[in-house]
Amino acid sequence: MSEQYQKMWTELGLDLKAHDALLGVLSEAYQKIFMAQDNRPQAMSYFDFVMSEVHGLRIKELLDEKAAGRKIIGSYCVFVPEEIALAANATLIGLCTGADFATEEVEKYLPRNTCALIKSAFGFKLGRVCPYLETTDMVVGENTCDGKKKAYESFKEIINNLYVMDLPQVKSANGKALLKAEYVRFKEAVEQLTGVKVTVESLKAAIKLVNAKRAAMLRLYQLRAADPAPISGLDALLANQVFFYDNPERFTASVNKICDELEQRIKENTGAFPAKLPRILVSGCPQAMPNWKLPAIIETSGAVIVGEESCVGERGVRNLVDGSGDSVDEMLDAIVERYFQVDCAIFTPNCDRLQHIEQMAKAYHADGVIHYGLQFCTPYLMESMPVQKALEQKNIPCLRIETDYSMEDMGQLKTRVEAFIEQLK
Ligand code: SF4
Ligand code: SF4
Repeated sequence: MSEQYQKMWTELGLDLKAHDALLGVLSEAYQKIFMAQDNRPQAMSYFDFVMSEVHGLRIKELLDEKAAGRKIIGSYCVFVPEEIALAANATLIGLCTGADFATEEVEKYLPRNTCALIKSAFGFKLGRVCPYLETTDMVVGENTCDGKKKAYESFKEIINNLYVMDLPQVKSANGKALLKAEYVRFKEAVEQLTGVKVTVESLKAAIKLVNAKRAAMLRLYQLRAADPAPISGLDALLANQVFFYDNPERFTASVNKICDELEQRIKENTGAFPAKLPRILVSGCPQAMPNWKLPAIIETSGAVIVGEESCVGERGVRNLVDGSGDSVDEMLDAIVERYFQVDCAIFTPNCDRLQHIEQMAKAYHADGVIHYGLQFCTPYLMESMPVQKALEQKNIPCLRIETDYSMEDMGQLKTRVEAFIEQLK
């Protein structure tokens, strides 16, 4: 892929040497972690192709869209509504924040004890290795946790197209009104960027498109309730990660194709792993591309992951938008209704999340929950304690993990995960 796209990457201003090194590491990890799995659904070949072209074909498509007059918007959070971007002739892509890069440079802007996800956003920019970030006409930051809020103040120094969206922290009537006001402001900002007004028709079509994408993922999640699990947690996570930047129609069709195959597998009683293996629900911080560390450990330690209670997972896609409104304002209200249900740990109190974890553990027949918290992530690490307590009261074992993107704790994590899985047998 490298040579074919060199010119494109140079024009985007990438540091070709650093970028080559990143792609090398990514491709090696993909081969070792994903291609080494047995009994993968055949339809996963689409995602293998996507990954082989991760900085190639999709970037070319985005540049072609730009040449045809569309704008590209990048985001770091599931609260940024794709429906509004699409309705105003823009493409929304989630920017990866799942690997360390240029750490020394990053720590000139951020304290060492900042979560790996925030550091990664800075590292990809400072290291000039992310072609997605470099194609964007606007990058949306959001006032979620304190780390992100304050980091965006410094991020403005290194990117010139940052737009900051305010977000509520309490699920109250005032909170909902703030979300609506911010979505209206975002709509106006996107309209100004693209020069295209959101209409009833364009918003309805955008809602339909995004609903279809979410419905396909929800279908995939439900199929994972079967035993044997028809797909590995790693492959399901990969689909969750690609969700954020692929072409929406193509993504939906590809996920539905996998689901068709999984339904067939369930009928034939075949799975990605043998039946009766310990089943794990992973809950907590988002596992952004290419963060595959914990799932790789779990699924090479004698267990299968059957669900992700995460923004790169079911928390990010559950609930569809009611697109039946007759006016843009009515549909904006429906969008607010849907997004206001996202139970991110930045909210206080955040009781819905606890209920959802329990519901998911039950629905997917999980034997235990592994709570995944990124080091220095106060919201999720704080919530992990009441989560563990509540689950254990219901006799659902829970292991709390605190980690980062480095590989230094791999051995220690594996020992803890193996001991936990042993306890579930
Ligand atoms: S965990 Fe919270 S801040 Fe992070 S993507 Fe999800 S909603 Fe956004
Ligand atoms: S992982 Fe935690 S600290 Fe990091 S950006 Fe998300 S909510 Fe904030």
